[in-house]
Amino acid sequence: MQKLVDNFGRQINYVRLAVTDRCNLRCQYCMPAKGIDIVPRKELLTYKEMYRIIRVLTELGVQKVRLTGGEPFVRKDFVQFLEMLSFNDLLETINITTNGALIAKHIPTLEKLSKIKSINLSIDSLQSEKFHTITRRDVYKEVFESFELLEQSSLDLKLNVVVQSGFNTDEINDFVRLTRDKAIAVRFIEEMPFNGKGQRSLEEAWNFQRILNEISSEFSLTKLPGAPSETSRNYRAANHLGTVGIIPAFTRTICNDCNRIRLTSTGLLKNCLFDDGVFNIRDFIREGASNDDLKQLFLQLVKQKPKNGFEAEQNRKRGSVSESMSTIGG
Ligand code: SAM
Ligand code: SF4
Repeated sequence: MQKLVDNFGRQINYVRLAVTDRCNLRCQYCMPAKGIDIVPRKELLTYKEMYRIIRVLTELGVQKVRLTGGEPFVRKDFVQFLEMLSFNDLLETINITTNGALIAKHIPTLEKLSKIKSINLSIDSLQSEKFHTITRRDVYKEVFESFELLEQSSLDLKLNVVVQSGFNTDEINDFVRLTRDKAIAVRFIEEMPFNGKGQRSLEEAWNFQRILNEISSEFSLTKLPGAPSETSRNYRAANHLGTVGIIPAFTRTICNDCNRIRLTSTGLLKNCLFDDGVFNIRDFIREGASNDDLKQLFLQLVKQKPKNGFEAEQNRKRGSVSESMSTIGG
């Protein structure tokens, strides 16, 4: 089997696919209050196209896919797509990142799909008013109901918390406290300037070290061994059931063993979160490419994967990193 290997010897075995650019929330660090300009429906990859792309990628050694967005559960028939994707016998793991507002009724179905191992649930505040301010939508009740149901389910649960200076930094240790009795992984993400505001207006106030210092001020942490290519550095507070992770998304100290590529909802391949896209796979397919053509294309494109996120950012042709994370697929 030919494998996807970049010029730095990194093997790509993980794809993040945004199934839509639409979202039911308007998180302030992700998009402006009025939302972003969504693309016409026909520009989105169809499920059939997504299935085919993932199939080809698994024939090149990809074993794991993360479905994200936008909000994946906003797209019609998303759960049927999960069932369809489960038929790919070369795919080992399907994970999902969601805001949790629409997932509750689907949890029993997700539990039955054995390739779905874990759900990343984005929750940035444990306080209802603050939650409303951050998401600009009234869904606290639905999201916390999903949180409870997911915790009781057979799926592994990871909470994604974007650390936002002046908004939720006072809750960092409240989130850590959740791991005392819950077997969940709470992961703090450095905020990035992917906020759809067209300007790179972020102060790097709460970076990895500062988050770690904040947690260490209250908890005694043990560092956990990291799995290869893991995006978070993980810890356990003394006597806690769950774990705590920090994702240095903006300071980018995790690029050396990166194993990931991304596909946006319109089929744009991204070799790095910080690049501005290398090739539109949707157009290539719609022009009649065969699976072998697709394979050759992927093998070539990953050779353009930059060494790290800083190099990717420097090489951008279409302006600074300020597009919304919902168009990229976080
Ligand atoms: N709608 C889903 C959700 O919120 O989980 C999936 C898509 S969202 C873009 C994926 C992840 O990216 C979420 O955990 C979200 O918090 C994170 N994210 C979005 N904008 C971000 C930013 N500017 N900096 C850091 N993380 C961000
Ligand atoms: Fe939507 Fe997720 Fe972005 Fe929030 S972070 S606006 S839920 S895509």
